[in-house]
Amino acid sequence: METDSYPKRLVLIGGGFGNIQLIKRLKNYSSFQITLIDKHNYHTFQPLLYQVASGGLGSDAVAYPYRKIFRNYKNFNFRLAEVQEIDTEKNMLLTNIGPVEYDELVIGTGSETNFYGMENMAKWAMELKSIPQALDLRSNILQEFEEAINTVNMGERKAYLNFVVVGAGPTGVETAGALAEFKKHVLPFDYPELDHNLMQVHLVEAGSRLMPAMSEIASAKTKEFLEELGVKVWLNTAVKDFDGKAITFGDGTALETRTVLWSAGVKGSLISGIKEDAILRKSRYLVDETNKVKGYDNIYAIGDVAAMVTDKTPNGHPGVAQVAIQQGDRLGKNMIARMLGRKQNPFQYNDLGSMATIGRNRAVVDLPFIKFQGRIAWLAWMFIHLMTLVSFRNRVIVFVNWMWNYFTYERSIRLIIRPFTTKTKD
Ligand SMILES: Cc1cc2nc3c(=O)[nH]c(=O)nc-3n(C[C@H](O)[C@H](O)[C@H](O)COP(=O)(O)OP(=O)(O)OC[C@H]3O[C@@H](n4cnc5c(N)ncnc54)[C@H](O)[C@@H]3O)c2cc1C
Repeated sequence: METDSYPKRLVLIGGGFGNIQLIKRLKNYSSFQITLIDKHNYHTFQPLLYQVASGGLGSDAVAYPYRKIFRNYKNFNFRLAEVQEIDTEKNMLLTNIGPVEYDELVIGTGSETNFYGMENMAKWAMELKSIPQALDLRSNILQEFEEAINTVNMGERKAYLNFVVVGAGPTGVETAGALAEFKKHVLPFDYPELDHNLMQVHLVEAGSRLMPAMSEIASAKTKEFLEELGVKVWLNTAVKDFDGKAITFGDGTALETRTVLWSAGVKGSLISGIKEDAILRKSRYLVDETNKVKGYDNIYAIGDVAAMVTDKTPNGHPGVAQVAIQQGDRLGKNMIARMLGRKQNPFQYNDLGSMATIGRNRAVVDLPFIKFQGRIAWLAWMFIHLMTLVSFRNRVIVFVNWMWNYFTYERSIRLIIRPFTTKTKD
């Protein structure tokens, strides 16, 4: 039940873009005693994970510890824990470190990979949602090169050097582009005993165009850029199965490969305890225009895990960082307004546009008032991503790495660090 007495115990699950912005908005308001719970002790800048996976950046460039971000906040606590259940009757979370009580709760758990029930794919394909997964993918790619050298069987060697990316949204496109640049600028020099022409990067998309959320011109340019880099683009191609050795397509044909990156679907990271009628298609929490979860007075959801269904957004907002940031910001302003007895305002998404990079000097940008591609788009992409990183340290590291990579054509962080025998589940 909502209490209008202050201070409130405000518990936030997940330190993604949404909750980070909410905490910033509530900085030092003693009326809100904030506890952030996350299963990692750092915030992850997901848009640059593909650069970690392809050896262009180290993991510390895209992550930053929560305790450091909020060290000067007087109303902030952090708990490293995984939330397993929400007991909405008792206003309590069940976590792996014990129960945590709340007066108000904000769920900002983001999203996870959706394999649409394809069990083999879930077992064998790689994912790219977290730093452990990005490091695992990097190690996997490098290990395949080493395996390819060790086999004299040409069929097997080709299979090790076939890299398949499924799903042509930003993650798929950017990873495919990065792999193609790896083939061009690293493979011939680091692995002279391998014929680098044997390495093939395949980007497979069930729909009729790449980057379906962007404009037609951005899709067409993305395809052109990828093909210039040597990526084999498969449109209108459904994937049926992957058994760890070969990927099978809807028409029954198969391609031998050891590495498939599945970036073809996501669903909200739900936590049990919320009533079913407050969940849209088993995937996201239904929220009203103040991000309050349907049927609850003191539970909010923001970002990827929230679906604000309106006439304008029948499927909710897109799962992008700007939505999460703006929802966190609006929720923070509304919480302060409510505390002061002022009017709360509904959330309104200000779409700033979208962009993706395909490789050096190749990017596509769709802004509300202009669309452009190529080198200028690439510079704009770099600038925006640098500015959005959470700390000054991250910005410096990323900038220095990018300069180094630009002038040397290198992807220097080619380390196989893999304490796991199988792919990482996070
Ligand atoms: C590879 C990749 C590339 C992307 N590129 C772009 C891009 O170019 N532009 C763009 O706008 N968007 C991009 N996105 C999407 C963007 O990152 C998300 O929309 C955004 O991160 C959503 O923010 P959020 O606050 O909802 O949650 P997230 O940032 O996903 O954070 C969720 C947090 O919740 C924590 N968590 C989850 N479950 C639990 C639990 N049970 N207990 C405790 N903690 C939990 C996680 O550890 C995580 O820290 C990309 C995403 C990925 C994966």
